[in-house]
Amino acid sequence: MKTENDLISIIAPVFNEETVLEAFYQQLSSTLAGINARFEIIFIDDSSNDNSLKLLYEFQQSDPRVAVIELSRNFGKEIALTAGLDHSHGDAVIIIDTDLQDPPELIPDFIREWKNGYDVVYAQRTSRRGDSWFKKVTAHQFYRLIKRVSNTDIPEDTGDFRLLSRRAVDAISQLRERHRFMKGMFAWIGYPQKAIPYQRQPRHAGQTKWNYWKLWNFALEGITSFSTAPLRLATYFGLLVAFGAFVYGGYIIYDTLVWGNPVPGYPSLMVVILFLGGIQLIGIGIIGEYLGRLFYESKQRPLYLIKSYQPSADSAARAEATRSITGVHSPGSD
Ligand code: UDP
Ligand code: MG
Repeated sequence: MKTENDLISIIAPVFNEETVLEAFYQQLSSTLAGINARFEIIFIDDSSNDNSLKLLYEFQQSDPRVAVIELSRNFGKEIALTAGLDHSHGDAVIIIDTDLQDPPELIPDFIREWKNGYDVVYAQRTSRRGDSWFKKVTAHQFYRLIKRVSNTDIPEDTGDFRLLSRRAVDAISQLRERHRFMKGMFAWIGYPQKAIPYQRQPRHAGQTKWNYWKLWNFALEGITSFSTAPLRLATYFGLLVAFGAFVYGGYIIYDTLVWGNPVPGYPSLMVVILFLGGIQLIGIGIIGEYLGRLFYESKQRPLYLIKSYQPSADSAARAEATRSITGVHSPGSD
């Protein structure tokens, strides 16, 4: 592999990972040592309230490749990743979790496929060890659903662990939406993409930040960000109910005129009113989901705020070198 002139950025979001961070850094470093390329390792601290940040600065002390971005508060993984992508300089960028669920050993495979011309190389789980059967089933159904309702083909059983070429990163950087469903965005940009199968391990240590309520919201996010099918569904359902009401109305008129039956009683009326009321509320709820998202987009707030940014010693040196050659401040050397 002839990559010695390439710079590759590793982007690692950190939120309260003090128990695994050391092991992660060791494992990553030993993997990178076997690869003939230059690296920068960008840690994004998503406002951890344990010792994680201190550890990150310790890594930075002894490793000129390490950069540390501190966000002003906890913004969530997707935004943390975005901050990392925005600050990356690499010809390729690799996104990896810091809990060792994404094995760094795959990185050489990523780079090989990138050299083969792929813009997005993603890891695809062949098993979900450590996940409950409930999570497995719901996850599988979610991917099937989103494939059907959106026009974007989001590959199943993939996380964010992947390599992106520079042009893929630039494409993602143009998508400044506030509601960031990254898996969908990675698929949306297109370009040649390649899957690499792997076995996902259970968390090395520490706690997952996910619970079922968060996963449910994540699923909603995915569907509403990538599809307007629920809105259309509400329309068709409304049409169906209206048609039913029309037929039933015809039947009542017929019944009254031909057989002279008195108006049937209270129960049927009650059922119809409650049913329609319920349907209308669901419809309004669906519209509300979209309207709420529109509301947040329309504010045009920045995606994140940075408390402190310590570039890697390497990138500072590179910036200095460019400045002395060109005599100007280069835009990528922040
Ligand atoms: N993470 C983050 N901000 C958050 C939650 C998580 O940066 O608000 C990071 C976390 O440190 C880890 C990655 O995102 O590196 C994945 O988190 P987690 O392991 O909790 O998710 P799971 O693997 O269970 O999907
Ligand atoms: Mg994890």
